[in-house]
Amino acid sequence: MEWYWWVLIIFWTGGFGWAVDNVRTALRNRHDRKLELLEASRQERLALEAANRPPEPVCGCTHHLAKHDKQGKCHERVEVPTAWDESKKPVRFESGQCNCQQYVGPQPLSQVYAEDLTDLA
Ligand SMILES: [Zn+2]
Ligand SMILES: [Zn+2]
Repeated sequence: MEWYWWVLIIFWTGGFGWAVDNVRTALRNRHDRKLELLEASRQERLALEAANRPPEPVCGCTHHLAKHDKQGKCHERVEVPTAWDESKKPVRFESGQCNCQQYVGPQPLSQVYAEDLTDLA
């Protein structure tokens, strides 16, 4: 066999291995990208769902507005601390009523009105 056959064979086998490596890397990259895309679309869907959901009618006392009566008094039961340890951490609780007075005054926005300018002329 002529010497250049060996050169060709080494070149072919080396080149073949290189090509296989490239294909393998390309396949792995495509797989990763697909996973990334899936993850991105999932996050997007979650964000959309969160944006479309109407805000929960929850009071500042963290209880649902349905727990408040017409006067705004919250009727939810809460744990009221009755004893504290030396580091002011409550150690005993008693069942009590949430003392929240839901804000029932006028809405600030409804107080905005246009001045009547006709009398100024
Ligand atoms: Zn409340
Ligand atoms: Zn409450």
